[in-house]
Amino acid sequence: MNVFDHYEFDHHEQVVFCHDEDSGLYAIVAIHNTNLGPGAGGCRMWQYDSFDDAVTDALRLSKGMSYKSALAGLPCGGGKSVIIANSRSLQGEAREKVLRAFGRFIQSLGGRYWVAEDVGISVEDIAIVAEECDYVFGVPEGTGDPSPVTARGVFEGIRAAVKYKFGTDLNGIRVAVQGVGHVGYTVCQHLHDAGAELIVTDINQDSVAAVVNDFGATAVALNDIYAADVDVYAPCALGATINDNTIPQLKAKIVAGAANNQLKEARHGQILHDMGILYAPDYVINGGGMINASGDIVGEYDYDETIERVVKIYDTLLEIWAESDASNRPPHEIADMIAERRLYNTQEVLTPAGN
Ligand code: NAD
Repeated sequence: MNVFDHYEFDHHEQVVFCHDEDSGLYAIVAIHNTNLGPGAGGCRMWQYDSFDDAVTDALRLSKGMSYKSALAGLPCGGGKSVIIANSRSLQGEAREKVLRAFGRFIQSLGGRYWVAEDVGISVEDIAIVAEECDYVFGVPEGTGDPSPVTARGVFEGIRAAVKYKFGTDLNGIRVAVQGVGHVGYTVCQHLHDAGAELIVTDINQDSVAAVVNDFGATAVALNDIYAADVDVYAPCALGATINDNTIPQLKAKIVAGAANNQLKEARHGQILHDMGILYAPDYVINGGGMINASGDIVGEYDYDETIERVVKIYDTLLEIWAESDASNRPPHEIADMIAERRLYNTQEVLTPAGN
């Protein structure tokens, strides 16, 4: 495979292939763009079906981080890393050796890439990496758990969408929340406090029971969430839930939630737009966690200032939708356009809207 010709290569600055004979580490670090700051993004530990799949994942995710940080106005670029290993079976001393070797590789990049936890990597793992390298962010002893801050941003995004689409506040608005884990539970809490009615689902029945008990939510079966009679569909579990099968089922007029990569393909964003369903681009509405964690990179962290920035997700989304309507282009394309202008020209293109 020629990485430069890879369909996800798309302007990547640097792709590093790491192998450590002693520990057996195989890892890839993809640094998409550092125009606005150091490449920053999580590390995944995953047993990919092929080496090509690992490269594809690293490239796709690191580009996504460039766009997320650019949209959030952060002094950070995009990067992501993958350790090719089975996270469940790699345990004990062998795991520690791999993580330490990985940390030494990240250190050798001299701060061009900052690493955080992601799928298959725990807080304990990242603490081991941090013993070998200075460029770790989103850690408990630093900015802490990003999930509540992500949830606050998602809540602001849903609030903005309802205001934009229906001209109302959230009182009496019906929201279907798919996945009530770390982020989803707190989104439910904010929505409940704002007077919204909750319809929820999760594969974990304890999580469902918690939101039913705590916020009077109505539980539905996993596959019934799409066709629920609601105003807002909030995907807070998996990616790719906006697809050819689910779109025809949707009764919601708004799609706004925490999950990454909600559109199975870009054309699904166009279909939502054509159907008059307002979509909150995922990396914009779920940017709160990165806004929070970036405090570890910048070296300054103030919780209140962080929340002020996260609340601005409301304004950013209003700007995107206004531009989307003015140009009759789907919101995900507008978000990409703004991110690209910031990444490559660093010029602002839209005028702020108030809330
Ligand atoms: P989590 O694992 O705590 O919660 C996800 C929940 O979804 C779990 O309760 C899980 O049981 C449930 N779930 C899994 N498959 C499901 C299915 N098929 N149907 C219904 N429920 C299902 O994860 P999280 O940290 O709350 O993150 C939720 C989403 O938000 C993920 O897509 C994540 O990538 C994204 N995200 C999270 C953050 C953050 O700060 N945690 C930031 C940005 C984006």
